[in-house]
Amino acid sequence: MENGLISVDRWAEGSHVYFLTHLHSDHTQGLTSSWSHGPLFCSRLTAKLLPFKFPNFDLSLLRILEIGTSHTLSLPSPSSSSSRTTIQVTAIDACHCPGSVMLLFRGEFGCVLHTGDFRWEHTCEKARKAKDMLRCALKDDGDGVDVLYIDNTYSNPTYDFPTRKVAAQQVIDIISSHPDHDIIIGINTLGKEDLLLQISRVLKIKIWVWPERLQTMHLLGFLDIFTTNTTLTRVRAVPQYSFSIETLEALNTMRPTIGIMPSGLPWVKKPLQKSELLSGSFLTSRYKRGRWSANNEVQIDKQIGNIEPLEKIHQYIYSVPYSDHSNFAEIEDFIKLVQPTSLKGIVSSSSCYIEPMYYFGRLCRVNQPIQQLHNTHKRKESGKRVGAVSTKTSFGGDNAESDRKRGKTLKAKFSGVRVSRLSILRKRHRGAKIKEINSPDHD
Ligand SMILES: [Zn+2]
Repeated sequence: MENGLISVDRWAEGSHVYFLTHLHSDHTQGLTSSWSHGPLFCSRLTAKLLPFKFPNFDLSLLRILEIGTSHTLSLPSPSSSSSRTTIQVTAIDACHCPGSVMLLFRGEFGCVLHTGDFRWEHTCEKARKAKDMLRCALKDDGDGVDVLYIDNTYSNPTYDFPTRKVAAQQVIDIISSHPDHDIIIGINTLGKEDLLLQISRVLKIKIWVWPERLQTMHLLGFLDIFTTNTTLTRVRAVPQYSFSIETLEALNTMRPTIGIMPSGLPWVKKPLQKSELLSGSFLTSRYKRGRWSANNEVQIDKQIGNIEPLEKIHQYIYSVPYSDHSNFAEIEDFIKLVQPTSLKGIVSSSSCYIEPMYYFGRLCRVNQPIQQLHNTHKRKESGKRVGAVSTKTSFGGDNAESDRKRGKTLKAKFSGVRVSRLSILRKRHRGAKIKEINSPDHD
């Protein structure tokens, strides 16, 4: 994140300290049992699970970040071999999978928030507490967040799906309506535990998991709900890689079986038209809150009548929109809460990747003219480098021009040049907020 100083979910040599937001494999690429590039900071639960994923890992490298506590670290300064620099870091529950945290950093580089993967739902008590914690942590720094690294997995308005509680009920309904079927649910090596717990509690049934997953469940403290004995239950949670049409077809030659795939991905409305991207009212007219009511009952909205609440994607397979990542509206709410100066997406390989500033730049503290964003988007589409454009364009108009005319050189000590540049520019532009960003509807 800051070259020579901090790495978050990146494991190449060259940083003084390393941070792990959570243990999903796309965040641990390069991390191995023999990795030893420096101290590794993570949540207590992640530290407990890590040796299971990486046997023989050097545990003396692990440093625990207590949730909600500000930790101060003194590190050699990357800009000078003789001096040191101090950073503060606070971990906050990301409500994504067990042990997942977002990380709030402060240092000479400014204030930087890295969400890791996260999902904060309106109806989730844990998310409410985490939000309060973040508000509290942000109060300590009147200047606010300079750069927000955000989980942009679903940062596109086409991704709209209900809360995990609602989706879990949909899974339960499918299972209940197939009383004579075996059920296969595709899951990852970590995550979706709450879904399985809810199924077990409501249907009063144990859940089969594979042996390694049972060990993880035991580490997480779930001792009686899961089993590796297939005779004890008709509901089996299997690794996603073994969940396929072929598997389901083979199983159905022996016993009637249906598969359920919990994921946010199939919950797509329809491709956006380009003209809609420029419509200022697009987001508010189609993505009003309250579609999923406070008591979690689906409110049928004529505007979204084209969405089927459940999707049977194959004779034997249901897709249910149970997602551990925020949907578009939740990402939008989060950005309104944080009001960063600049945004960067942490997911770049997603097929739906879109520069987060494109949709959310208007929520940053320095307004982003929509036409400029559209131009930025087009530049990206045409394959030209955007790089720092996300911050550069955010200042837009006369002020950026006058800065250039005055020949101001806004350099920083670290390679995170933009951070310090942003801090300086932000101070000049203080007060240039969008008025509606504090709408109480979104708190
Ligand atoms: Zn993840």
